[in-house]
Amino acid sequence: MEAFEKAASAILSASRIVISTHMNPDGDALGSMLALTHALRTLGKEVTPLNVDGVPEILKWLPGAELVETLTERRDFDLGIVVDAGALDRIGKSLLPIFEAVPLLMDIDHHVTEGLVFGQLQVLDQTAAATAELIYELILNLEIQSQSTLVTPEIASCLMVGLMTDTGSFRYSNVTPKVFSLASELQEEGAEVAKIAEAVYENVSFASLKLLGKALDSLQRSEDGRVVWASVSAQDFAEFGGTDAETEGIVSQVRAVSGAEIGMLFREIPGRKVRVSIRARQGANANAIAKVFDGGGHILASGCSLEMPLQRAVDAVVTEAIRQIALS
Ligand code: AMP
Repeated sequence: MEAFEKAASAILSASRIVISTHMNPDGDALGSMLALTHALRTLGKEVTPLNVDGVPEILKWLPGAELVETLTERRDFDLGIVVDAGALDRIGKSLLPIFEAVPLLMDIDHHVTEGLVFGQLQVLDQTAAATAELIYELILNLEIQSQSTLVTPEIASCLMVGLMTDTGSFRYSNVTPKVFSLASELQEEGAEVAKIAEAVYENVSFASLKLLGKALDSLQRSEDGRVVWASVSAQDFAEFGGTDAETEGIVSQVRAVSGAEIGMLFREIPGRKVRVSIRARQGANANAIAKVFDGGGHILASGCSLEMPLQRAVDAVVTEAIRQIALS
């Protein structure tokens, strides 16, 4: 509780605020960042929302998406806020100097990895299903401290997107009674659930379905079937003109294979590293695998990046996953 109050008063004392979140932003990252942007603008703050990769096509309809910039020349911020990032370097190399230069840095996240916490102020809670949960509580604190009304239908919609996507539409084990209470409050505040669900889930690009086809074609599993994985190569991305963001969600289908305890998706990002998404079924630990490769996340959903050719990355991570699963 104290963390929210401290964060709210730091925000109220600031005037020029820069906000960012992790690269390849998902619904919770952008929903959280934009909800906070709207609230802070209502409070009269100058807010610059940044994301190194911008807003993916599928989330361009989010209220305020057009405000997001990929870079800024400004350096006169008095507060930096990083939401949902997992680690500071996940905001991207080009944005790091901006956040390293701010006099006060705040880390708001439901990913809490030892050694990766940063800034002078933190609002961290790994029991929260989504960073959106923390942002809502922070906005309520801002309302109390500033004695103003901040939650609008736009903010409610942004937060609902975060909550909906990070809980797999209220299906994952991170769903608590609090999640349903929050969803109910957000709907009361004007979030249109059916419209949001359609925009998020029934808005698939042609390229993303083609990439899903490639990934499924590459599907493999360990001898005992407890580890299942798929990959999308740089060549696949080039062939269909798809982006990394368009492969979001494939990994849940990999984990859905009967008998799979660990599901993994390897993506060879042109000009970048091999990005690995790791998902575990209850009882297995995705985070322990990610950590071996300097990644992070939570027990059921983690990720890491490897700087090596695709096949070598697959071999390394699959071997580790099979080793860990055999011990569990
Ligand atoms: P993803 O598979 O990209 O959806 O990521 C799953 C979870 O792992 C998210 O909570 C991310 O924050 C976290 N994660 C992914 N990649 C990394 C990384 N390289 N370092 C730290 N955390 C990561």
